[in-house]
Amino acid sequence: MVSAMVYDLDSIATVGVVGAGTMGSGIAQVSAMAGYDVVMRDVEDDLVESGFETIERSLDRLVESDRLSDEQAGAVTDRIAGTTDAADLADCDVVVEAVVEEMEVKQNIFADLDDRTAAGTVLATNTSTLSITTIASATERPEDVVGIHFMNPAPVMRGVEVVVGEKTADAVVDFAHAFAEDLGKTTWESDDKPGFVTNRILMPWLNEGIRAFDEGVATKEDIDTGMRLGTNVPMGPLELADHIGLDVVLHASETLHEELGDRYKPAYLLKRKVEAGDLGKKTGEGFYEYE
Ligand code: NAD
Repeated sequence: MVSAMVYDLDSIATVGVVGAGTMGSGIAQVSAMAGYDVVMRDVEDDLVESGFETIERSLDRLVESDRLSDEQAGAVTDRIAGTTDAADLADCDVVVEAVVEEMEVKQNIFADLDDRTAAGTVLATNTSTLSITTIASATERPEDVVGIHFMNPAPVMRGVEVVVGEKTADAVVDFAHAFAEDLGKTTWESDDKPGFVTNRILMPWLNEGIRAFDEGVATKEDIDTGMRLGTNVPMGPLELADHIGLDVVLHASETLHEELGDRYKPAYLLKRKVEAGDLGKKTGEGFYEYE
């Protein structure tokens, strides 16, 4: 049995982040901005580098709008160590995984983290839809595994969904809320049911927008404008899907389809775009083109 002391926020100095993509880089940034040392790992040097570039762009915007000084921005990047070596995560006090939305990949990472980190180190996943309980089953200590689901972009969005697996310890759930709040976020809690609260409701909305476009209901611009102005949301479904990443939307939709049936079937055009490598903002083209 591990001591509850290890779940104490005061004993957390170093945050590990696995994956330096859209979400991992954002989670590394907000953790460093809250004063933690961060180890950010990806599989290739250029992916780690690209994570740092995303962080620097985001910090530049904060400096330009006078919300951060140059000095503070420099201190944030100095607190983040990039690596491709999983061994560098061994001394982290909490690890947040943010790699591709594929169960096998996540389970391999959690089995590895289980071996490398001390019992009582909270192992969190940023999964959008996959089961926390199934991810945790790859470890010998499922009580330490919890969902800490940041929204995109993590430095900007205020909300974090805490997802409770079958075996997640109560103290780990409390830790997840406290940790996210310490990063300046407001949390809510979801049971480990497909899509949790947010994506269970968001994914059919995105897919219906893509189908409406594919079936010629309106132009993509009119669908997005209609939903923005007609329902008072900041982004329409096609622009939001591009922003999230079409591969991420497809993986999430496929998981929900598998778990919850036909009402969650991914749109045909979504699959075609992903097969063509047009993944949205991150590749420069999705439903729209980006510089
Ligand atoms: P992404 O494709 O931008 O980044 C994933 C990164 O993980 C890539 O850089 C990839 O090289 C890296 N990676 C893959 N295997 C790895 C491994 N074994 N070790 C270390 N790094 C590895 O994806 P993303 O959008 O950042 O999504 C990451 C996770 O966050 C997914 O589970 C996704 O469902 C979830 N999520 C995404 C969003 C969103 O809007 N994009 C929002 C909330 C949650």
